[in-house]
Amino acid sequence: MAKQQKSGHLVLVMFPFQGHITPMLQLATILHSKGYTITIVHPELNSPTPSNHPEFTFISIPDKLTESEVLDGDAANLMLSLNKNCAIPLQQCMKKILHQKDSHDHIIHITAIIYDTLMFCSQTIADDLRLPGINVRTSSAATLLLYALFPHLDGKDSTLENEIPELQSLQLQHIRALLSQNPTDAMLEVRNAFTEGVRSSSAVIVNTMDFLEQAALSKIKEHFPAPIFTIGPLHKLAPTICSSLLIEDAKCISWLNKQAPKSVIYVSFGSLASIGEQELIETAWGLANSKQPFLWVIRPGLVRGSEWIESLPNGFQEGVGERGFIVKWAPQKEVLAHAAVGGFWSHCGWNSTIESICEGVPILCKPFFGDQNLNSNYICNVWKVGLQLQNKLERGNIEAAIKRLIVDIEGEEIRKKAMDFKKKASLCLQEGGSSCCSFNELTRHISSV
Ligand code: UDP
Repeated sequence: MAKQQKSGHLVLVMFPFQGHITPMLQLATILHSKGYTITIVHPELNSPTPSNHPEFTFISIPDKLTESEVLDGDAANLMLSLNKNCAIPLQQCMKKILHQKDSHDHIIHITAIIYDTLMFCSQTIADDLRLPGINVRTSSAATLLLYALFPHLDGKDSTLENEIPELQSLQLQHIRALLSQNPTDAMLEVRNAFTEGVRSSSAVIVNTMDFLEQAALSKIKEHFPAPIFTIGPLHKLAPTICSSLLIEDAKCISWLNKQAPKSVIYVSFGSLASIGEQELIETAWGLANSKQPFLWVIRPGLVRGSEWIESLPNGFQEGVGERGFIVKWAPQKEVLAHAAVGGFWSHCGWNSTIESICEGVPILCKPFFGDQNLNSNYICNVWKVGLQLQNKLERGNIEAAIKRLIVDIEGEEIRKKAMDFKKKASLCLQEGGSSCCSFNELTRHISSV
């Protein structure tokens, strides 16, 4: 993207997990290419590497998170602690920026605070400082709608979602899995703060494409007053940034180069999900028995109670030999774009979902928690670019699902639809495409605030 003249100073506030850091850095890169000066404020946890992005100023703020808060897996508690602990340091940081002077002795202005939806304390700070707050949803637009509907769903019996027209029209009847039947106080507080942030913001940016979520987007506009800018897929607009917290193993690309076109099943459950030892063993045999070549990301920490791959069955690696390749972390976008990849067995994190859609790779869905269930529902039942792995992780189910996704005739429609979506995704980014237009509107909005 050609660099234009300076347009203002944007402060971006990050939520410190891989699936949020990457799209935020992508957004920063795109805005910087349009001439904005970028400051990135981030909690200490999972700090990005400033030397990878010399064009930005990074400011780390103390998050005071304890080890148990980070490791015990209670997302709502973690979000609350993060927002409570970061609020004052974030406010002090903003004030400090506002008191600084540039090399010409001019006071530095902040054009807008652009924050991850999950760093909802930022909106209150923006309001206090009378600065525009722009909310960034790094997941689907549908999650915004869902959160807006939370007050109607909480505490009601499980048949109620069938009576909420928004959910029915979006074929989201099965989303109760995303909501807890008995939400904790922390969950309720997070949902309220999340929705309040979106409601009070001056604009909302979503890493999605209009054609994927048209129905949800028009409903969302009924619930939130701010303009919504759908500028995804961000990874295609900023393809070269380096944002992985783990080291990408590039050797898998040489291995992929030796595989037949559309033959490989790529397996990755993202940066947070975990499985038990028995599930690892079933997955291993399912992959082996499918007879398809596989590239499998086993992240350290993926298998509960194991360091890495020590619980793989004896003889498994020797048995599959060259047909399987295991890495700790893959250059996923490059992998999905590789001609040898024929399917993606995914946990259905939003980034993985849109990265797969953009490359026309059909998805085998194994959602674990949170929005992954919603994304999987869209993939299988609304967009029909993937199929759900039925029941629990069991070798026979896995073998059958992989064959269906990649080779069997029953998977033909899904494979065609996935290629069709690839074309539609690429059109979004072209001149006159929905994301391209939305991005231009976003920059006009930023100039106007
Ligand atoms: N990713 C990667 N290499 C891997 C696995 C994942 O680069 O081996 C990237 C992937 O491309 C995506 C991000 O990590 O951008 C995961 O985000 P997602 O929203 O899919 O899931 P999360 O990790 O938040 O559960």
